[in-house]
Amino acid sequence: MPPVNRHVPDPAIRRRFQRRLLRWYARHQRDLPWRKTSDPYKILVSEVMLQQTQVDRVIPKYHEFLRKYPTVEELAGASVSDVAATWRPLGYNIRPVRLHAIAQQAVHRHDGKIPASLEELQAFKGIGRYTAGAVMSFAFRQDAPILDTNVKRVLQRVFLGPRNGNGSKSPKRLWELSAALIPKGKAYDFNQAVMDFGALLCTARKPNCEVCPMQPLCRSYPWDKDNTSCRKPRRSSM
Ligand code: SF4
Repeated sequence: MPPVNRHVPDPAIRRRFQRRLLRWYARHQRDLPWRKTSDPYKILVSEVMLQQTQVDRVIPKYHEFLRKYPTVEELAGASVSDVAATWRPLGYNIRPVRLHAIAQQAVHRHDGKIPASLEELQAFKGIGRYTAGAVMSFAFRQDAPILDTNVKRVLQRVFLGPRNGNGSKSPKRLWELSAALIPKGKAYDFNQAVMDFGALLCTARKPNCEVCPMQPLCRSYPWDKDNTSCRKPRRSSM
């Protein structure tokens, strides 16, 4: 028998979360330009731009950057100062330098391709576990988990509850949850859905609990900004 992971909810609760989330996503998903491509290079560019930067600031720069450097080879062949200038004013200016280095490594070591493996992606300086998971699930359609700020917050609130803090002390637990919740073969939609859910409904400051489909499952419902509400899970009714 496989070992039981006490951090992971049982299959019935996972299915209920998945169904509710995907139903919500079908009606509320954001229309974002990097969701219209499966090119791993373009998805990588979007993910690096989205680190610490809001979506509406990223969208015009994403288009501009890809007009100028439409392929890995063209980015690798540009000067790093030109790439950094194109990046402005997005900020966190180490990012274009790293992206440029990633493109050069991809050309020299992978024949100009972004590799389709978590290990190879994480071997690039500047590609962490989140970005590797995003490229694997959004470009290569593999069931790889992700854990950005939005995903962390949603999983934390629904499955761990408010008294467990912001998740920073339990990243291992949240990575396990993120992986265990993916419906087989559906990481693309599922991961996008959790991100949208966190960005639009279960937001950091004002989660819209009144209209939230997760109410019966959520250990933080109703959300209290002072974190004083922490309901026991109602496992029997799930
Ligand atoms: S009930 Fe509130 S805290 Fe729980 S997932 Fe929904 S919006 Fe977030």
